Amino acid sequence: MTGRRAPRPRFFLKGLAMIFKSHKEHAVTYMMMPLRDIVVFPHMVSPLFVGRERSIAAVEKALEQGKTIFLVTQKDASIDSPSQETVYPVGVLATILQMLKLPDGSIKVLVEGKKRGRINKFLVEDDSFSALVEEVDDTCRDANEVKALNAMILDSLDNFAKFTKRIPPDMVATAAAVDDPSRLADLIAPQLNVSLSDKQQILELTDVCERLERVYAIMESAMELIRTEQRIKTRVKRQMEKTQKDYYLNEQMRAIQKEIGDTDDRQAEIDELEEKLQSKKHLSEEARTRVDKEIKKLKMMPPMSAEMNVVRNYIEWILSLPWGEKSDVKMDIGPAEQILNDDHYGLKEPKERILEYLAVESLVQKLKGPILCFVGPPGVGKTSLGKSIARATGRRFVRLSLGGVRDEAEIRGHRRTYIGALPGKILQSLKKAGTDNPVFLLDEVDKMSTDFRGDPSSALLEVLDPEQNDTFNDHYIDMDYDLSGVMFITTANTLQGIPPALQDRMEIIRIAGYMESEKLAIAKQYLVPKQLEANGLAAGQLEFSDNSVLHIIRRYTREAGVRNLEREIASICRKVATDLVRQGAQEGGERKVKIDKSSVEKYLGVPRFRYGTAEEKNKVGISTGLAWTEVGGELLFIEVAVMSGKGELIITGKLGDVMKESARAAMSYVRSRAQLLGLDKEFYQLIDLHIHVPEGAIPKDGPSAGIAITTAIISALTRVEVKKDIAMTGEITLRGRVLPIGGLKEKIFAAHRGLISTVIIPRENEKDLKDIPEKILKDLKIVMVDHMDEVIRLALVTDSAEAFAGKAVEDKQFFREPPAPEDIPPQLHQ
Ligand code: ADP
Repeated sequence: MTGRRAPRPRFFLKGLAMIFKSHKEHAVTYMMMPLRDIVVFPHMVSPLFVGRERSIAAVEKALEQGKTIFLVTQKDASIDSPSQETVYPVGVLATILQMLKLPDGSIKVLVEGKKRGRINKFLVEDDSFSALVEEVDDTCRDANEVKALNAMILDSLDNFAKFTKRIPPDMVATAAAVDDPSRLADLIAPQLNVSLSDKQQILELTDVCERLERVYAIMESAMELIRTEQRIKTRVKRQMEKTQKDYYLNEQMRAIQKEIGDTDDRQAEIDELEEKLQSKKHLSEEARTRVDKEIKKLKMMPPMSAEMNVVRNYIEWILSLPWGEKSDVKMDIGPAEQILNDDHYGLKEPKERILEYLAVESLVQKLKGPILCFVGPPGVGKTSLGKSIARATGRRFVRLSLGGVRDEAEIRGHRRTYIGALPGKILQSLKKAGTDNPVFLLDEVDKMSTDFRGDPSSALLEVLDPEQNDTFNDHYIDMDYDLSGVMFITTANTLQGIPPALQDRMEIIRIAGYMESEKLAIAKQYLVPKQLEANGLAAGQLEFSDNSVLHIIRRYTREAGVRNLEREIASICRKVATDLVRQGAQEGGERKVKIDKSSVEKYLGVPRFRYGTAEEKNKVGISTGLAWTEVGGELLFIEVAVMSGKGELIITGKLGDVMKESARAAMSYVRSRAQLLGLDKEFYQLIDLHIHVPEGAIPKDGPSAGIAITTAIISALTRVEVKKDIAMTGEITLRGRVLPIGGLKEKIFAAHRGLISTVIIPRENEKDLKDIPEKILKDLKIVMVDHMDEVIRLALVTDSAEAFAGKAVEDKQFFREPPAPEDIPPQLHQ
């Protein structure tokens, strides 16, 4: 039905108005048909199936009366006999174009909407519906707006039609040809996918602008909905494609790997890593996420690639560290003391300090105190004390030697980008420990050095600082690791090599070394039983006599500790065990072996050292000094030879600069004393003096040999012997004053070991004597001196007067002080 076929509404309805009487001026009575599920708009042609008798009657009457019928939509479709309240107030006047009776008594009519009408009165006759209807005219508030809206709708419609099938394709063209905007809105409205009530609302909008606007809005929001749908669809599709693609690629990769033959291994490996990750209950959140990510990376990597190894190693390192895995720490001091005593002889003070430390720890419940540092020569039990602490506290034990560590990366690891990078030694050792609260012994902190590769001690500072070590960052692992549960203990031979900042963090516990009697006790109670067991010998099978042990101590070792002693005992045990096995094989019986002095030589060969090392005879030109080296105290023999020459001083024996200076100072003192010593004033110009300190392989330094050098020089020059059993230590000034020295305890131990009877020490060292065990003080005569003259009197065999080169010297004159002005060469006075 086109617009052309329909007469202009007003004109058309004017004719009708003549036929019906109306009680209102513009209202006309029309036959009416209530509609259930449709809203008919003006210009809309629609087939209607009519079943209600009253409706059929209304249609028939309308046909008789000029084909116009008023169509109005019911608010509720289920009502059979509608009233004015149950139909909408606005409907449409329509022309019946066709009517067809159907066999079941119902009819089908084809109607064409013509014009809006409002019900003034709903009339119910017995057999049909009719109503007093007032025509509704369009209004228009703004012609320009209408024009704009018209254009917008046409534009939108074009788009809309493309996306939805609701708009038949030819409708776009039809709509474009419509020149009446009101009609355009009515043309599109029935096609919109909105509810019946929404359509009714559009029908009720008499203002064209408003109607167009509503239609436009509905179209736009439908479009928006469509666009959103479209977007979602695309996204879902893309996701599906990606999943499918991943699946496909994974399958393909698996196929390739299978072809190469490594899928099973690789999958097994990845499964294993994942399992390990699951089983690591206390892994930090950061580490867990990192490992997860790396495993994912691993899965995607081409097999056998170098990169794969790097990633795998990294994951394995992280998973092999003890994250939060701890041993149960025992806090009880009683058993701890027992264990320390069981493992070590003597060491009263260190043991007390350790117990104090553990007591504080158990009170505070954490390790925030200073780090223990055992300082002493090798073999005095520093490491084994560390092991005992671990045993006593129920912690595991790891040891890391810092000797020769000169690179920060050794402590902290290399970054992962380096080829062959590994975590630093701290984390490596923790992996070995398997828990994150072991006793961690850092050996030889004094042997660490610094060079261009960074300062390892600064990394160590961080490790040892209880305030920062809960977030220790290793370069390789590149994550925080908590070291705060670790009990660090350090050891050193001397304090000199330890950077002051590190020393600040430490509680120094000195272990000086053992006396002969202590060594004997340690050997009998600890070392021999230990070595018997280690070599598979029963307790009674091998016995060491005290003499044999002493013989080993004196003639086969020269040390402050007991390491070599243990080694020699081990060596004997091994040899005896071999013998026993051989003999056992031959004779089939068990034998007992007793070790005495002579069998020691059988097993260990010719003695390596002269016992005691004190000189056997008084000698000219040889004095006994005392030195303090890293291996403890030692006897130092100083030899001086006089040759004719022209005043040169030759110094040999691997001496340090300070010791050389000390020798020169000694020489100057001797020259200032020349006259008193009966030497010619110019004696030095006619001779060369050679000072030598044998056992030159051991570096020696320090000023403490001053008085010993002087004594040797004087003895050599005056040809007076030095007493063989006197040892001495002390620095000398040019005027002969004797200054204090360090390491007195170690030196006196060495003198005692060396069977010296008298030790000359500077008076200012008297305060250090309190550290020396009673027993030693009983065995040794300690003489304290202020001046070199006293040393000469004590050390030289002055009664062999004939040995003096020049005239005899009166005692009182000899030790006069200070040098008389006439001793000073006359040229200095001018
Ligand atoms: P350090 O670490 O000081 O160089 P070690 O701890 O390695 O020395 O000791 C060497 C050996 O001597 C170890 O077998 C140790 O058990 C033993 N030892 C040292 N001191 C004692 C002691 N006081 N009692 C028992 N054994 C000791």
